Amino acid sequence: MSRSRPYGMSSLLVYAALLVLCDGLNDADYYNKRSKILRDESLLTLGGKTTLGDKETIVNNCLMQHKFREVDYSFDNPEYFNLSHHYFIYKDSIRKSKVYKILKDIPKGAALHVHDMALLGADYLMNLTYVPGLYVCFGVNDILLKFSNTKPNISCEGQWQTMTNARAASKNVTQLNEKLRRHFTIVVNDPDVEYPSIKETWTTFKKFFSNVHSILTYRPIWEQYFYDALKKFREDNIMYVELRSILPQLYELDGTVYSSLITAKAYRKVIKRFKKDYPDFIGAKLIYAPARNVNQTTLDAYLQLARDIKADMPDLLVGFDLVGEEDTGNPLIEFVKQLRAASTEFDYFFHAGETDWFGTTTDENLIDAILLGAKRIGHAYALIKHPILMKEVYERDIGLEVNIISNAVLSLVRDTRNHPLSVLLANNMPVVLSSDDPGAWEAEPLTDDFYVAFVGAASKLSDLKLLKQLAVNSLKYSALDRATKVEAMTKFNNKWNKFINDFDCSKY
Ligand SMILES: [Zn+2]
Repeated sequence: MSRSRPYGMSSLLVYAALLVLCDGLNDADYYNKRSKILRDESLLTLGGKTTLGDKETIVNNCLMQHKFREVDYSFDNPEYFNLSHHYFIYKDSIRKSKVYKILKDIPKGAALHVHDMALLGADYLMNLTYVPGLYVCFGVNDILLKFSNTKPNISCEGQWQTMTNARAASKNVTQLNEKLRRHFTIVVNDPDVEYPSIKETWTTFKKFFSNVHSILTYRPIWEQYFYDALKKFREDNIMYVELRSILPQLYELDGTVYSSLITAKAYRKVIKRFKKDYPDFIGAKLIYAPARNVNQTTLDAYLQLARDIKADMPDLLVGFDLVGEEDTGNPLIEFVKQLRAASTEFDYFFHAGETDWFGTTTDENLIDAILLGAKRIGHAYALIKHPILMKEVYERDIGLEVNIISNAVLSLVRDTRNHPLSVLLANNMPVVLSSDDPGAWEAEPLTDDFYVAFVGAASKLSDLKLLKQLAVNSLKYSALDRATKVEAMTKFNNKWNKFINDFDCSKY
């Protein structure tokens, strides 16, 4: 692990003194000092002390040749720099990038921050609308969907009919399908018009979850969806996943509704099946992450459910979190007594500081996340504004789950060069990259985030060493037990070596 030097003011003070001493240097000494600063900063950055073998150096040369070409072109033509625009504008075009294609093939370790309802995108969800048993009601402003044996007994502005009949009766099936597809995505052609502020973005984002809820929670669909999601993550060269789930209640065609414990059991069943089919896959674990916008009584009920799941499936449940829009939800401080009392029972992986605000209850969530002993922090977007917390995170070695595309799409930042990830990487903070809700914005499980981070936030000079360290970090900061972590690292090293040995620059 390359934790090259303690984060803190001391190293900065040394450099301040060094710069003062530059007065009166001869030219050669001046250039030497300048080179030393550059060299030391590059060693200080995340992955900066990782060393590359001969074959890795060949891969790195290819990767960096393409990266420099892309970045240099944008430096000279900033109006064409994709990552200064909205993700929806460039998401399709980055897939043609040679850097992107290399990143797609690179073993990326684990995805540690993803929400189960948004793992797969609109194309997948559209296919589910052809599964028999689906009823639909097209209202004036909404579409309701439900799998059922009989016409659903749910109030609706229009008429319930089977999806098969709706398509057969439609005069324009293409238009019907387009309307349905829009129901399953937050991607739009004109994001700057549709999403002028975080308020509109979050309104649509929350609606996305209610839209997909009824179609995904039909039990057989849920199990297949989760299996297919793991498959897609594996194809994106991810070997392990930690899922956050609100544990939605699953249902059957006859109207039977199960408890959330059954949802957790469904996970365990699917993970077992998937690992049997793909023995190279390490698996998946669950972080129970219900909504934060609740009262203390409901939080007690959440904690009790977490206890029940842990008692029944200690191999599945690895921790607890609270989710939802942080600026408008309840801050952690409101639940501190209960969360402190339960901190010996659960590992915490709190979302905290997912905000542009400074000096508010939202960025102060970072204080509580750290004081409550969080093993990792979700987003930590506002962390760089809190120097004492930066130091605490470094010293306690708390993994920071950065989801750069999520932050851009959900209106925290536009130009990704301004994302705090650049500061975190420059200071060798314990970063892991993840993707949060890739299905909601139709991103690949992790490659899009790696690309945007690598080209749009990391230094132009950051190379394969950074990518390797990020992948290693994703396993290091995972909630796997010690023995499985060792096994995962061995499997990762094998995959990495195969990628390096098989690499052919002319393929890209
Ligand atoms: Zn999240």
